[in-house]
Amino acid sequence: MSITDEELRSNIRTLLSAAAGKARVLAATKTVDAQTINKIYDMGIDLIGENRVQELMEKLPYLDKRFEIHFIGRLQRNKVKYIVGRVALIHSLDSVPLAEEIDRRAQKLGIVQECLVEVNLGGEESKGGVPLDEVESFIASAAVFGHIKIVGLMGVVPKTCEKENLCAFFTKITKKFIDIKHQNVDNSIMSNAEMRILSLGMTHDYVQALECGSNLIRIGEGVFGART
Ligand SMILES: *Cc1c(COP(=O)(O)O)cnc(C)c1O
Repeated sequence: MSITDEELRSNIRTLLSAAAGKARVLAATKTVDAQTINKIYDMGIDLIGENRVQELMEKLPYLDKRFEIHFIGRLQRNKVKYIVGRVALIHSLDSVPLAEEIDRRAQKLGIVQECLVEVNLGGEESKGGVPLDEVESFIASAAVFGHIKIVGLMGVVPKTCEKENLCAFFTKITKKFIDIKHQNVDNSIMSNAEMRILSLGMTHDYVQALECGSNLIRIGEGVFGART
């Protein structure tokens, strides 16, 4: 990592002021070494997200213990055991078998693992995520697991999305988030879910995500510079 402390500090200042009063800033730390990651704590970012299990396991012993750590990448069932209990939040819950495995591992540890439901906004077959119109029924199925708590939604906008369409994408998921939140209040079907966190927005679209209701932005290059 060749980014200077000055650049890091300036990037973080920009992000924190854009997000102020609206959202938490999560630094997406893939490919970034632990020493560089540790610098950002005292610059004002206390939340980091990794998206590869192996990479997280390698860095974990060297990371400042004060960080809150989230898992933001695709999660395979056979890797769940390394993650549960080690991260405060999993952003990428998108299937019942995955929920079942997270629940099983959390139960063993005697904890409740908080998760976000990843919503598929692009409808791309190859990508993860629950289709928007299946989110409620998915939450109802996942709510039977007592050692998982769903605390919100996460979305990634398709790479091909034009700038002028970003808000339309983000607003769809924000509407869903608000809908489910109201259902929480009105009845108990969603009793095991609490719509608290809406994880939307990355380096190239966080401005629009913030305008459209995000309360957690996930920023990699906008903090650490371009990944090489
Ligand atoms: C890498 C990553 C980010 C951050 O991407 P940038 O474009 O570098 O801001 C956010 N969310 C997920 C799931 C990621 O994998």
